[in-house]
Amino acid sequence: ESAVTADFVASDGEIEASLRPKDLDDFIGQPRVLEQLQLVLAGAKMRGGTPDHILLSGPPGLGKTSMAMIIAAELGTSLRLTSGPALERAGDLAAMLSNLVEGDVLFIDEIHRIARPAEEMLYLAMEDFRVDVVVGKGPGATSIPLDIAPFTLVGATTRSGALTGPLRDRFGFTAHMDFYEPGELQRILLRSAGILGVDLGEEAGAEIASRSRGTPRIANRLLRRVRDYAEVRADGVVTRDIAKAALAVYDVDPLGLDRLDRAVLGALVRSFGGGPVGVSTLAVAVGEEPSTVEEVCEPFLVRAGMIARTPRGRVATAAAWAQLGLTPPPDAAM
Ligand code: ADP
Repeated sequence: ESAVTADFVASDGEIEASLRPKDLDDFIGQPRVLEQLQLVLAGAKMRGGTPDHILLSGPPGLGKTSMAMIIAAELGTSLRLTSGPALERAGDLAAMLSNLVEGDVLFIDEIHRIARPAEEMLYLAMEDFRVDVVVGKGPGATSIPLDIAPFTLVGATTRSGALTGPLRDRFGFTAHMDFYEPGELQRILLRSAGILGVDLGEEAGAEIASRSRGTPRIANRLLRRVRDYAEVRADGVVTRDIAKAALAVYDVDPLGLDRLDRAVLGALVRSFGGGPVGVSTLAVAVGEEPSTVEEVCEPFLVRAGMIARTPRGRVATAAAWAQLGLTPPPDAAM
């Protein structure tokens, strides 16, 4: 009822922003990353300098952007936000770098997609806090070195393997974010429900958590859909039965598999007899980019024990066949 009496109703995007953890204590899950990061930040604070550049890697929706915001908040500095694809021209990056204030955090999302000239400019900026601004064209061109304020680069990538060696080497700390455990997602859901004023029971939280594909962004999205159902079709209280009924309406898989996960599994088992098959062939079969299949879909299916990576390609496990209600042929490669 709070949403109805409010002057305006928040959009999903605004709601997502309101659910971001604000500081390290607020951040649920990823205990290893938190401990490591706490040390990196505390060490820099003690010495009164800027921390080393930080690379955050892992699938989408696991909290990389939230973590970058937290790093800036913990350091008491500002966050400047951009992305690899937005830095097509080195000049765009030069402008950003020269506007930095000492101690700022520069966040570059999808840093593996940065264009070559910008990447090369970044090397010098990361190492020596300098940029070379090229003036003029052709043989008469000269480069003028320009000092920039000491800053901390936080790069995020869904594909750390796609980073060039020289770029990777310039990060002093790499945090690998992994899919969340159901218990962690349940705590995230209960926290989100508290912020949104949704009456979410413990068991209902566990139900949504187990279907959230190990991903906080998906957990929060499912919570909003379940809340719709509870408010429209019931009294607003989210019980386990209400959660189950709502998730059934939205075709949410009991294991958290999404449409693409199911398409990939279906193709692997039905079209390729369970494999082995290459990732690019699988991607063509489901009409997706190979990078999406490899970076978004495959990590979760491997984690869920549905597919295995072998030197000859991807192979469906017995669990994958069972998931599709099929029995593997005796000669299936497993
Ligand atoms: P990424 O940058 O990795 O794609 P985001 O940082 O944008 O992920 O996170 C997506 C959403 O998931 C955020 O809006 C936030 O609400 C939620 N979220 C992510 N990680 C956590 C966490 N550890 N605790 C609580 N909420 C989280």
